[in-house]
Amino acid sequence: MHWTEDALKQIEKAPAFIRGMAKRAVEKEVAKSGREEVTEADVRAAYEKYIKFAVNSGEGKGQEKTTKIAIVRCDTVAEVCPGIACFKAFNHRKLAFEEYGDNTEIIGFFTCGGCPGRRVPRLVEKLIPHGLDVIHLSSCMMLDDDYPRCPHKNQIKKIIEKKGIRVIEGTHH
Ligand code: SF4
Repeated sequence: MHWTEDALKQIEKAPAFIRGMAKRAVEKEVAKSGREEVTEADVRAAYEKYIKFAVNSGEGKGQEKTTKIAIVRCDTVAEVCPGIACFKAFNHRKLAFEEYGDNTEIIGFFTCGGCPGRRVPRLVEKLIPHGLDVIHLSSCMMLDDDYPRCPHKNQIKKIIEKKGIRVIEGTHH
């Protein structure tokens, strides 16, 4: 598939983390119409159809700002837990999520990547351009139960807070 210079310039404006996905979406649309050249207009059309929502999820003029939260959880515990209690507490705005209104979205749910939380800084960085407001550290990081509590919790918390993101300890306990 050939891309015109203007089309390439246009696709470069998409955030790096979705650029690959955006390119594939544009090429799929162009191929559907039986052409082999991508123009700037094709990129704009695909942006409206497939990409806009991922870059700016639903905040328009006059709309109240959506609070965007993410949950970091223990990589070890994730082997046995799909996250039901975290989501249940959020969906019902209970326990650690009581303060949030309807206009709140979970935009990320990821494990720390293993001790000592190696992928937390990287993934938090990815969420910041999407308006991340708060990170919850999952309750499994806090409990001495079947698994020991996270010995790196304070360090993980500090790393996130240094990026200007509020941290709340806990989700469903
Ligand atoms: S850093 Fe903490 S949360 Fe992550 S795997 Fe280790 S114990 Fe679990």
